Amino acid sequence: MVNDKINIRNLTSQEIECFLIKQGDKPFRKDQIIKWLWQKGVSDFNEMNNLSESLREKLSASFYIDKIKTAEKFTSKDKTIKVLFITLDNLYFEGVLIPDRDRVTACISTQVGCPLKCSFCATGKIKYIRNLTMGEIFDQVFELNKLSENKFKRKLSNIVIMGMGEPLLNYDNTIRTINLLISKDGLGISPQRITLSTAGIPQGIMDLANEKIKINLSVSLHSALDSKRNILMPVNKKYNLELLSAAIKYYYQKTEKRITYEYLLLGDINDSHEDAVALTEFTKISACKINLIEYNPTENDIYKPSKKEKVIQFEDYIKSKNLVVTIRKSKGQDIHAACGQLANKKH
Ligand code: SAH
Repeated sequence: MVNDKINIRNLTSQEIECFLIKQGDKPFRKDQIIKWLWQKGVSDFNEMNNLSESLREKLSASFYIDKIKTAEKFTSKDKTIKVLFITLDNLYFEGVLIPDRDRVTACISTQVGCPLKCSFCATGKIKYIRNLTMGEIFDQVFELNKLSENKFKRKLSNIVIMGMGEPLLNYDNTIRTINLLISKDGLGISPQRITLSTAGIPQGIMDLANEKIKINLSVSLHSALDSKRNILMPVNKKYNLELLSAAIKYYYQKTEKRITYEYLLLGDINDSHEDAVALTEFTKISACKINLIEYNPTENDIYKPSKKEKVIQFEDYIKSKNLVVTIRKSKGQDIHAACGQLANKKH
């Protein structure tokens, strides 16, 4: 709340309609207001120029719009653009626009900071502040889409929820945003072009399985051995591999959608033959794809990327088990926009 006003983008359309009826205004104005909020992306009620001045005043007196602003942009040699956004209450967070030959992907955040503190991730090193609202998550896509049209002359083709934060710990706002993004009132993006990445929150994975939206699920695994995963990802102490595996099985039974596993290769940490065996055993539970990720250095950390020959051996072993495996190319490293490097220096 800002000065006792209510965030209008947290309201449902029925709630906006109720407000209008109470004020003696026509209920159909709701559709105009919703268009201004989500399709035109205004930050001020005064911009809603097809509403009467008195209605605009009434709206301003009761509500505020939690529109984010762009604070700074950084462009990489490979054309990846990192955008530093700022919220109405002056918190900074990041979104990334990643052009490729046949696509433009927006990587968006769901929290300011992250409470999970994975030991290899830069976001975990800054203070966790709060969940982003639905409006703030949506705005990143809206703004990155505008930027994509401007710079690359095409709309966004894909959205990955892999920026700062753990989306399944901000479940409702993330799901409401996805629903809006795929609806015609929002951007009309196909759910097949949206990927949500989680560090492994079993209840969230099961809830997602029960939703009607069929987006892609990516699980950040990084080790299939509890003893190692506990150190790399402290969340594993709360939700171990057995619980994670049960949730993934449930998800797969419900959706029949292939799971993607992200596996960061850390030199001499999780790149041995034993690690590869554990990974292929774990991933047997459903159809899947394994994405091996090159480690992106973060500040003051203890890890190093795996050696080339280790990467090849690891990949070959997975292939020998007839699993689909890819090696993710890293983008935007020079501007700290690559995976796990999102940690703005403003906090
Ligand atoms: N919390 C979610 C989404 C954010 S992290 C999750 O954990 O999936 C997005 C991806 O970047 C995850 O797979 C994460 O493990 C990976 N990542 C984190 N730090 C990294 C680093 N230093 N180098 C490469 N990838 C990293």
